[in-house]
Amino acid sequence: MKVLVVDDDRTTRVLLTRTLKTWGYDVVAVENGMEALERVRAEKLRVVLTDWEMPGMAGPELCTRLRALGGEYVYIMLLTSHGTSSHIVEGLEAGADDFVAKPFDPPVLRARLTVAARHLALQDELAHKNNELAQANSELARIATTDPLLQIGNRRSFEDVIVHAHQTARRTGLAYGVLLADIDHFKRFNDRHGHAFGDQVLRRVAQTAVNALGTSGQLFRYGGEELIAVAPEQTLRSIAVLGERVRGAVEAQRVELLTGGFTSVTISVGVALFDPHDAISAQVVIEYADASLYQAKKLGRNRVVCWPFDDARPPRTSQF
Ligand SMILES: [Mg+2]
Repeated sequence: MKVLVVDDDRTTRVLLTRTLKTWGYDVVAVENGMEALERVRAEKLRVVLTDWEMPGMAGPELCTRLRALGGEYVYIMLLTSHGTSSHIVEGLEAGADDFVAKPFDPPVLRARLTVAARHLALQDELAHKNNELAQANSELARIATTDPLLQIGNRRSFEDVIVHAHQTARRTGLAYGVLLADIDHFKRFNDRHGHAFGDQVLRRVAQTAVNALGTSGQLFRYGGEELIAVAPEQTLRSIAVLGERVRGAVEAQRVELLTGGFTSVTISVGVALFDPHDAISAQVVIEYADASLYQAKKLGRNRVVCWPFDDARPPRTSQF
């Protein structure tokens, strides 16, 4: 353990340095508060033994400024001949941890340095535990918002993201789009090749969609074989292009069958754009995307349909 001795009196500095060294401590000795602050900052010293009466910066002011540094905890002992209760209060309020009477009594000083070491060990242990806890919490948060099979956001995190996108669009006036994708005839993969293969298909489609979206949008698992993406700052044209890019990328994939050979997978995509001037909720935007997806399925699958539909007579409009 390294101790910083601060005293304007040379004799005291030399005496303290010699004494502390015989007890096995590393010692750095300086003669004023400014130097002390610099050394603590530069060398990450954790124990400071400071005089009270010093020209320039007195002991209590040094305590206050050391506390203001932040970072790792520094244990401060004030060395003083002032033993009155008002001095003790002043020193403690300034941030000192302990007092040592001057002239110092070696066995008492030695015992108090042991207390300092114990205190710092507890501080470090606590900091370490807090760090572990913060890491565990962030891992838990990740697990709670991630789909375990597809390793993309789950429905819960989608809901947070779309609410945020909706609010942002209202504030900025920039539209966002929603893409709802469903794997065509997914049940057939499960029925013919087993659920493990179905899972593999889902993973492949999700990974392909993530890559095709790039930085334009974020993908989530919406339900069974449904994936949903939120893409901020879109136009009807750009979101349609994005939907087509995802659909095309999935169609271009070849998935290896367990029995040998390959199969292709297609998705139907329903797209909806939220116009910030519309007084509709995020839920309604999702319903539009769902209606588009329904239309894409109806028109023969493996296609992208955007809301509003070209034929201006969308199905299921009555429910909106
Ligand atoms: Mg002095």
